[in-house]
Amino acid sequence: MTTIASNLQAVRDAMTAATAGAGRAAGEVALLAVSKTFAPDAIREAYRAGQVRFAESYVQEALDKIAALRDLPLEWHFIGPLQSNKTRAIAEHFAWVHSVDRLKIAGRLAEQRPAHLPPLQVCLQVNISGEDSKSGVAPGEAAHLAMAVAQLPHLRLRGLMAIPAPSDDVEVQRGAFARLRELFEQLNRQGMQLDTLSMGMSDDFSAAIAEGATMVRIGSAIFGDRIYQKETA
Ligand SMILES: *Cc1c(COP(=O)(O)O)cnc(C)c1O
Repeated sequence: MTTIASNLQAVRDAMTAATAGAGRAAGEVALLAVSKTFAPDAIREAYRAGQVRFAESYVQEALDKIAALRDLPLEWHFIGPLQSNKTRAIAEHFAWVHSVDRLKIAGRLAEQRPAHLPPLQVCLQVNISGEDSKSGVAPGEAAHLAMAVAQLPHLRLRGLMAIPAPSDDVEVQRGAFARLRELFEQLNRQGMQLDTLSMGMSDDFSAAIAEGATMVRIGSAIFGDRIYQKETA
């Protein structure tokens, strides 16, 4: 087995253990392989080991890889910062976007989503740890944004995403994920039909699964450490 294949198996096993430990049904949590900074060959290797969903954070880098991997039936998710001048490329080449945090950006994605493609699947990024530097809508403004995004054509609002401040303390990790889950439940009580909680990365996905994640975004535990050459956004 290659390193990527065995890493993937270890991640799947840990996800299965966390899912069972939380008393949740097997298969309730989807794995998104975060392939940013890794070459198409690494993605091919993960695909051969059964992985179909991949996530990228930098538009130009992603477009190059999507083109290089056209021959594979992959599902592409955009999880990076969204700039107005990049929305068209995202609307045309991705199945999902997890990082919508402004109505203006959602409106552009709706307008630019090609009519022949299925609706773009959208999660709202929520700034759950309240840090000034992080992107994401404030929790108190999420309901308003969700109602507006849900009205847009060519988009389908699926749920919420967060990147909490890193912590080694599992209770702190769980506290942040619980806040996102509570917001998700509150929106559904208000009539939204959200089914996706995108939360949990390599270092905290077990805590995220314990708090109800339905999609975890895992990069380094699958592909190894990232080496950033330059800003590719
Ligand atoms: C890079 C990234 C990940 C993956 O992080 P790892 O720690 O490598 O698992 C997940 N989510 C987002 C939004 C990212 O940018």
